[in-house]
Amino acid sequence: MRIRALLLCFVFLAPTVLADGLPDLGEVAQADFSPATEKRVGEAAMRDIRLHEPAYVNDPEISGYLNRLGARLVAQSSDAGHDFEFFALRDPTLNAFAMPGGYIGVHTGLILAAQSESELASVLAHEISHVTQHHLARQLGAQSQAQLPMLLSLAVAILASRSRGDIAQGALLAGQAASIQSQLSYSRDFEREADRLGLQLLERAGFDVRGMASFFERLQKFGRLYDNNAPGYLRTHPLTTERIADMENRIQSYPYRQVPDSLDFLLVRAKLKAEEGTPQDAVTEFESQLREHKYASEIAVRYGYAVALSRAGNFTGAGRQLAELRRLKVDSAMVESLAARLRVSQNDLTGALAILRPALLRYPQERGLAYALVETLLADKQLQAALRVTLDDLQTYPSDARMQGLQARTYAALGKRLQQHRAQAEVYVLEGQLQEAIIQLQLAQKSGDGDFYEHSQVDARLREIKQRQAEEAKEKKRQ
Ligand SMILES: [Zn+2]
Repeated sequence: MRIRALLLCFVFLAPTVLADGLPDLGEVAQADFSPATEKRVGEAAMRDIRLHEPAYVNDPEISGYLNRLGARLVAQSSDAGHDFEFFALRDPTLNAFAMPGGYIGVHTGLILAAQSESELASVLAHEISHVTQHHLARQLGAQSQAQLPMLLSLAVAILASRSRGDIAQGALLAGQAASIQSQLSYSRDFEREADRLGLQLLERAGFDVRGMASFFERLQKFGRLYDNNAPGYLRTHPLTTERIADMENRIQSYPYRQVPDSLDFLLVRAKLKAEEGTPQDAVTEFESQLREHKYASEIAVRYGYAVALSRAGNFTGAGRQLAELRRLKVDSAMVESLAARLRVSQNDLTGALAILRPALLRYPQERGLAYALVETLLADKQLQAALRVTLDDLQTYPSDARMQGLQARTYAALGKRLQQHRAQAEVYVLEGQLQEAIIQLQLAQKSGDGDFYEHSQVDARLREIKQRQAEEAKEKKRQ
């Protein structure tokens, strides 16, 4: 909970932009928080989430989908060049938030509550607009200056905590975050501005703007259901009748448009649903949906059923649902990776590779397929082939810590110590753990294998990382 308390109230903003004729927005904010500070704070918090937040959904299929959806909206925004990263937290409550540096988090509960892709997109569009419109910095700028020191100390706490472990961080953050959160729910004007621009993004990105109104009605209903325990989202984004009326008026001016949900949206929701509760709960849920024909998409319900059955260890049953999906001629990377996972769980590595290789050629941007291919080649003891995949892949995605980790494992399996420690050092660099990276590079120096060229590469990298560590230490002292 400590990390999320912080995130709910943190929205730092990118450099000033002129958006849709809206006034130039940033001077006050800019003076207090440079985009560089904002980026560094966001990166530090995001690294901490990836490393320490148990609710972080480390699933390339889910985060791949959210980032593709987010990118479609950002491309229509006034700040299309701004770096954004979208991620999910496994949490049944309805919430979404923007962190410093454009990191936008969504609770799985909110993804499952959205009844259409346009509804989910409307929440992301609203969050993106809070970021591109500098709402938090403007809010801070407008409110008493007294808050700034507290937030700055929080920013420092995040940056400083990386080397002192998360316990200290928890104590530091929770105390301060809660008090800031209560003061930082967005003003009504900012909410309306985020709605107005969110609608424009939705419309330009080809979604149904009515998704925003229908989702807000759903939130309100949840709010009424839970009385004084309204969804977290409503606490930071107060939903007033006035705001809903304003939005509904605005929507009238947009032409009516029916936008079908993408297959990925349906499959991502089915996967999250199949991962909820016990495996047996999930199996029963999909079984009854299928039996009673209570579903919008047969493909999604059969996919969810297959995921639930394989979670319950019933691979034959899962295989039957997969055969149905094949009969329905589904064209989806998620179905291919499920099929390969089923082969692996039945120890048919050759069968899994026969699915993964063509699938990766067909869906080259799907990170999950690339990881699964390396994992399966390793399991099948095809070490040289695994290494080749990692070398090729890291050419295109050099800052993919997971692939760097797979390469380290491959070198370890090949008995190449120097290269194993060198690759592991890159994982730590990407995670911001410089001390661990230095230890790995020193182990690489002492590895006893590797040629002159490899050793000089390691020496050069070690100098670089030590330099970076020294600079960071100086930076921290300066604060
Ligand atoms: Zn809002």
